[in-house]
Formats: sequence, structure tokens, C-alpha cells
Amino acid sequence: MARVVLSGLKKTYGPVEVIKGVDIDIADGEFTVFVGPSGCGKSTLLRMIAGLEDITGGTLSIGGRVVNDLPPKDRRIAMVFQSYAIFPHMSVRENLGFGLTIAKAPKAEKDAKVAEAARILKMEPLLDRRPSQLSGGQRQRVAIGRAIVRNPDVFLFDEPLSNLDAALRVDMRMELAKLHQELGATMVYVTHDQVEAMTLADKIVVLNAGVVQQIGSPLELYHRPANIFVAGFIGSPKMNFLKATIEGIDATSVKVGNADFGSMVLPRAGVSASVGDDVTVGLRPHHMGDRGNRQLGGRVVLVERLGNETLAAVELKSGQQVIAALPGDVDVIVGSDLELGAETDKASLFLRSGAAA
Ligand code: ADP
Ligand code: MG
Repeated sequence: MARVVLSGLKKTYGPVEVIKGVDIDIADGEFTVFVGPSGCGKSTLLRMIAGLEDITGGTLSIGGRVVNDLPPKDRRIAMVFQSYAIFPHMSVRENLGFGLTIAKAPKAEKDAKVAEAARILKMEPLLDRRPSQLSGGQRQRVAIGRAIVRNPDVFLFDEPLSNLDAALRVDMRMELAKLHQELGATMVYVTHDQVEAMTLADKIVVLNAGVVQQIGSPLELYHRPANIFVAGFIGSPKMNFLKATIEGIDATSVKVGNADFGSMVLPRAGVSASVGDDVTVGLRPHHMGDRGNRQLGGRVVLVERLGNETLAAVELKSGQQVIAALPGDVDVIVGSDLELGAETDKASLFLRSGAAA
């Protein structure tokens, strides 16, 4: 097991900087997830940890030693990719043991490790099959098993569940969480899917355009997003953003107003902004319903029935649109007027820079 520390890590391809000075401290045994939109640099960062990409600047240490110039095979890591990358002409057993075969490990040791990986992943009945005789989920399990057999200090996963259908993805997600509990190894996991990040991670790193936006536990990011980007990325449906203006500031609170909710005072200490500044108020769909303390009126423009809840898109008087998460059996129809209750004590406030106040 090992702690992984990224300090000022940079990566450029020619003139283009894709990783712009990243600092992340991953504790020994922690499950850390890098999440962000496609193209933000997640895979590049993971491949730099793996040693598959050169590091342009900064330092990377694994288990207390700087490994910038160490080849992948000496880093005590194992990586699992989205495309399973298993050998089609070998059985599951041979695929699992391949790394040890190459390393000329004694047969008894290899057999024991393959049996152990097969037990952990409940694959014993499949050991003599070829990959073509396996489902997508089983193939990915073989790839994960091959990583387990190598007994790495750090597991690296790059969107391992993205090729699986939705139901299987949920199952495999739970299996990965159990695998982490059983092995206790350091795991770094890349995904564009914020639900995967929220459910698997001890610690989430939100990336955008090669820059870390925020690092924290799932609930820290959900309840205290550092900026509009994180607020919009974490949580489903996405947080509603309403334009507003600062009407007053004192040492402990900010008064903001707009045409839809009138004026409201949000407890915020030491905000550096001025009266008249444009700001954004963030209200999650699940904090807009019938429980709130502040009424917002509008017209229903879309209704999505999910069974356990109903999502209503509501056009407010100002023309801004919000999504409200209402009870499953709520009586709403498109075109009708609706009064929403916003829980303003749960509102987020973002300054013109996008940073949370
Ligand atoms: P993600 O995994 O978050 O979708 P990547 O790490 O694959 O993103 O890519 C980050 C950025 O780096 C993208 O803009 C991509 O186009 C660019 N990139 C990745 N690999 C190369 C390369 N070999 N040459 C030039 N640009 C690259
Ligand atoms: Mg990627």
C-alpha cells in the first residue's frame, strides 16, 4: 500500500498545456476519484501516475519515493482500462496469470494468486473460458483480476465501467467498493460520471480544463461546492442558478435580490463584494418543492415522471427556468401555474468570479 502525492504536476503536448499544475495528496488506502467532463485531463493525469505519459513538470511520489523517471513496471501499480485489454486467445486462467508467467514466478505461487483473485471476484467457474465466451462485465472482471494478481500498491482505473450497460454498471460499482474494502489498497479511479464518483470515493478531485476545481469528500462537494463549476457538476438533476444582485452586505450576511424571490438574506461572513454586484444564487432541485420558506411562482413547462419523484421544469416570472424535484405522485401538468417553496437556508451564493461566497 502507498500514499501518492502529486505536486505541481504539469503536462504539455507541444505548445498545449493540458495539466496545469496539479496538487493532490492521496492517502495510503484511500479510494480517490478524478471526475470531470470529457477532455479535462483525467486520463492524462492517471497515465502520468502509471508512467505511461512523461511528466513535463512537478513531482510525483508513490510510497514516499519520487517516481517521475521510473518505468511503469517499477512503480508497483496496476492499471485497468475501459477497453478491457485482455488476450482473446488465452483462457481466463492464463489471462489472470499472465503477469506472473512473464515474471517467471513459480507455478505454485502463480496458481495460488490466480485462485485468490478468482475467489475475490467470484470467477472460479469461468477460469477455463476464453474472453469470447464471457459477457462484458465478466471480461472487465478478468481485467480487474489481472490487476489483483499483480498485488500492486496502487490500483489505477480509467473509466472501467463505461462500456457496460446501466444495470451492470451499478452492480460492478458495488463490487469495486467491496474490493476496496477487502484489499484496503490505494485506488485512483477516473470517471466522467458524477454518480460513480459520489458513490465510490473517499475523496473526489473535480477537474476542469487541467485545473483542480475542488478536492473533498462527496458530501463536502455536494453541500459546500467551491465554485459554480463544481456546484453544477455534482448532484443530479443539476443545481439551479438564478441571477441576482447584491442589495446589502455586513460582517455576517449578504442580502441579495431578484424579481423572482424578492430579497433574501444569506448568512455569509466576510464576503468581499459590493452592493450592486451581479451574483448567482444556487438552489438544488431537491431544495425546491413544498417545504421551502420562500415562494417562487412560475409556469410548468415540462414534467418528467420518474416514479419515486417528479421533475418539473418551471419558467419563473423573470423568464429564468428552474427544475424542481417534487413527490412522485404530485399533481402537476404542463402549462399550469405552480408555486415552489425554496429552502433558502440551503442556497449557495456565487460571486461574479464564480467562487462561492
Ligand atoms: P479525459 O480523460 O478527461 O477525457 P484526456 O486526459 O484524455 O481527457 O485529454 C486531455 C486533453 O489532452 C484533451 O484536450 C486531449 O485532446 C489532449 N490530449 C490527450 N492526449 C494527447 C496527445 N497525445 N497529443 C495531444 N493532445 C492530447
Ligand atoms: Mg479519459
